[in-house]
Amino acid sequence: MASRVRMVFGWLALFCAGAAGYAEAGSQTPSLEEIPSGKTRVIDLSYAINDHLVSWPGDAKAFEAKTYATVAKEGYFTRSFWMLEHYGTHMDAPAHFPPGKTTLDEIAAEKFFGPAVVLDVGKEAALDPDYVLSVKKIAAWEEKHGKIPPGAIVILRTGWAARWPDVVRYRNQDADGKMHFPGFSMEAAKLLLDRKVSGLGCDTLSIDPGNSPDFPVHHLVLGAGVYQLENLADLSGLPEAGAYVIAAPIKLEGGSGGPVRVFALVAER
Ligand SMILES: [Zn+2]
Repeated sequence: MASRVRMVFGWLALFCAGAAGYAEAGSQTPSLEEIPSGKTRVIDLSYAINDHLVSWPGDAKAFEAKTYATVAKEGYFTRSFWMLEHYGTHMDAPAHFPPGKTTLDEIAAEKFFGPAVVLDVGKEAALDPDYVLSVKKIAAWEEKHGKIPPGAIVILRTGWAARWPDVVRYRNQDADGKMHFPGFSMEAAKLLLDRKVSGLGCDTLSIDPGNSPDFPVHHLVLGAGVYQLENLADLSGLPEAGAYVIAAPIKLEGGSGGPVRVFALVAER
């Protein structure tokens, strides 16, 4: 839940050819002046991790925690845990798809801070679970709020978080096992890469729509060195513009991805 605090600080390489058009974005200083000042709410956009979250179909085991020491026996309480890198609210590192790309620990920390661009497609997704973000929708956002700035963290708000953690409703599989949930289109992703965003995020299992057999947006976006945030928690408290996102992944050496704690800072007016 949001808490009140005072803040002072401010495809295959798209098929190789397509992705080649996007140079891996260099590290850039986060625009700290964009951080809301004054009375600010912190919204936690991550789910707590346990063994009964919605996993990717086919992942038999996703998480396990074991008690390692107890207060009664050892005098202190610790656990060990095991989990898949892509489970719950997590970050996809560029190395998740294209070989030779940045692993989780190698992503420049500056990219974890950025102004939030929230693209709301709740109405469209409610009518069509296979909806993909249109370029028009981005144009409408820019019309209202100005050009998407470099270093932005762009979040697709589909409303799917309301289905979490109901496996059946969240995956929304048909009789053939194909999933149906909204995602980014290739055209939209290309435009966002042109804007030099730091990351893309969504409140579904995947940046690509659920019915995608080959994840073209993953190949394109990760191929361009941009990370992805998946299974973001309830985004309803975010304004379309003006919030600031901090996406802090575990610094897992060699990781293709991993759990991430995502916060949005929202000015209280
Ligand atoms: Zn992932």
